[in-house]
Amino acid sequence: KRRAMKKTSPSVFITLVGAGPGDPDLLTLKAVKALQQASVILVDDLVHPDVLQHAPAQARIVHVGKRGGCQSTPQAFIEKLMVQEALAGETVVRLKGGDPLLFGRAGEEIAYLQSQGVGIKVINGVTAGLAAINSLGISLTHRQFAHGAVMVTGHSPSSYSNTPAVNWELLGHTAHTCRLTLVIYMGVSSLEHIQQGLMQGLPAHTPVAVVQHASLPQQREALTTLGDLGSTMAREGLQSPSIIVVGDVVQGARAW
Ligand code: SAH
Repeated sequence: KRRAMKKTSPSVFITLVGAGPGDPDLLTLKAVKALQQASVILVDDLVHPDVLQHAPAQARIVHVGKRGGCQSTPQAFIEKLMVQEALAGETVVRLKGGDPLLFGRAGEEIAYLQSQGVGIKVINGVTAGLAAINSLGISLTHRQFAHGAVMVTGHSPSSYSNTPAVNWELLGHTAHTCRLTLVIYMGVSSLEHIQQGLMQGLPAHTPVAVVQHASLPQQREALTTLGDLGSTMAREGLQSPSIIVVGDVVQGARAW
């Protein structure tokens, strides 16, 4: 007779909270409740400042982002600080842009917390890719055009040097033959490389949408084709943070 494995639930835990893509109204009620109970909040880049209005006035807020003129806080420091505060009895919220489990190093943070015997709760957020799709007024998986979608980073890993970078050529080919829409995060700095690679597998006339600052008042976007992607982004001055959507579903996108 098998016995269920006994789970030792850690007494100390940290809550990873998704702050959504930008618009603070896209927070979940769960996120708001977690913020209301927090005593220490570690905040990433791209989290809208108004999100912090839900935190108690006396909560300690630590900005650990890479932008905003400050140097990037080393990942190891963020991880140690979270654990230290949680063990000291603080109610720690780690606030991350979009959904906390997509990109943004959540995997590393979870692994570290687990290794320290610290429990983790995760509260989903609206990811930037889906906010971008929303603003295009299309279905990411419109069955006439796509069987599914791939969320992929355009940023090659530096800390995992033995992890190969994305094979854009192969991904373009796969997207074409399997009818998959590509939702590219962090693609701006390697745009040319991505475009050249994808064009080995996808036709140059494949529709592409770029959405910068999705869900925010300063949102900007462009509809173009894969072949014209680089020149369109340069002409329109579209920068990071942007989502690049590649695939036939984009042809139904709203013209602004
Ligand atoms: N966890 C986040 C993604 C973090 S990676 C999420 O689920 O959304 C950071 C990348 O997300 C940026 O380089 C950009 O590609 C994208 N991004 C974040 N906010 C965005 C926004 N408001 N509009 C467009 N892209 C955004």
